[in-house]
Amino acid sequence: MPEYAVKFNGTLGVELAGGFVYLPFKVPEWAKTVEVQYSYRGLGKGECILDIGIFEPCSLDLIDAMDGFRGWSGSNKKSFYVSEGSATPGYLPGPLKTGVWHVVLGLYKVPPEGCWYEVEVKVSGEARYVRERRSAEVTFPQKRGWVKGDFHVHSIHSDGNSNVEEIALEASRVGLDFVAVTDHNTHSHIMELNGLNWMYGELVVGGVEVTTYKGHFNAYNVSSTPEFRIRSEGDLLRVVDNLRRKGALISVNHPKPLGPDWEWGSMSFAHFIEVYHSLWGFNNYISLRKWDEELCKGYKLGLLGGSDAHSLKAEGLVGLASPTTWVLVDELSERGLLKALMARRTFVSKSPQGPRLELYLLRGEDSWSIGEEAPPATMMVEAFIEGGRGTTARLVSDRCVEHVWKIERDPFSVKLEMDLRDVKFLRLETLETAEDPWDRYHRENDISAISSPIYIGE
Ligand SMILES: [Zn+2]
Ligand SMILES: [Zn+2]
Repeated sequence: MPEYAVKFNGTLGVELAGGFVYLPFKVPEWAKTVEVQYSYRGLGKGECILDIGIFEPCSLDLIDAMDGFRGWSGSNKKSFYVSEGSATPGYLPGPLKTGVWHVVLGLYKVPPEGCWYEVEVKVSGEARYVRERRSAEVTFPQKRGWVKGDFHVHSIHSDGNSNVEEIALEASRVGLDFVAVTDHNTHSHIMELNGLNWMYGELVVGGVEVTTYKGHFNAYNVSSTPEFRIRSEGDLLRVVDNLRRKGALISVNHPKPLGPDWEWGSMSFAHFIEVYHSLWGFNNYISLRKWDEELCKGYKLGLLGGSDAHSLKAEGLVGLASPTTWVLVDELSERGLLKALMARRTFVSKSPQGPRLELYLLRGEDSWSIGEEAPPATMMVEAFIEGGRGTTARLVSDRCVEHVWKIERDPFSVKLEMDLRDVKFLRLETLETAEDPWDRYHRENDISAISSPIYIGE
């Protein structure tokens, strides 16, 4: 079997940090498998992280290069292969295009003294195959109403430690109606998901967590890997514009310290903000404040939650469905879910058990609910809460916390009249620990459920 190897090594200066380096090598006609391994170390003190991925012959330009994308593993794997019949999770199997390929190094963290790297590429004429997974019989149950799921989970296709089938099984075990697997900078997991729909009783959808060196966002309704080599605000807007035109839904992830934070300026291009990420106590009061700032500027960004679970196995880590996002769908299908998301009909609770929230504005024969836009007027406000006994409920607008109630019965409901002529939005929240329920962003308030707003506009 023909075979050849090529080695790259050298040092990279700190001035290259945040950028990308391309190492070209030839793939001849007889090639069936490319195997890559790499190592690196900092040349001084300070963190050193080099990411890795691979492109088949293509332009290396922003966005266009993604036509040649064959996989990315961040700094999670020290070696990978791409072959005709199989590939390392995170990489795309398939025939190998003849021509010049590029190993891509992403210079995430480079210490001041620079770093040393070595990459070895092996090209061989021997193909590798794995047994195909058999697809489940796909039957879509119709279901109108509130459905619950998790919008942010990682598998072995990036830095998670479970395969997609284990995630589907766990989603079913904890009682979810849907789960979105959203690996970093690859779509190799999405290619495996269809066969899993309804196998364990729930809808399994895909997304990509577009992971840049200054912040992460999830793109849903995509079938290929979006550009992630974003180095400027201009790049970001071009990439997002391109994604939105192709029908992707964009959610800015964990914009808070240690999220990691969102260091790009604007968030207004997104459809959603992941306001409730992992446990509420992990700095989510900061994401909440940033969301409100966008809403006050008039951007009608919706609310999503995501566990960002990387592990279903290790104890002590945040698992699937913590928190749970509820969506009011006309039908439980990928299309139904996307349609309901576009209408921003969501609320988030700390677990699949709730609390569950409903909020309505009523005037004469007309009514408006979560995600909708009501006219500025005096209205009857109706709030319902299920599974919230012992907690505190509050009604929050852009100007202040409008009302606070101790919830002593289950279900709980309240009806009151409000003048909403000077209000931009109204939402409902429950607090498990209410250190100061009148302070919208008190860091010791433990929010256990939060609704998308009813927006008030002309
Ligand atoms: Zn992230
Ligand atoms: Zn993530």
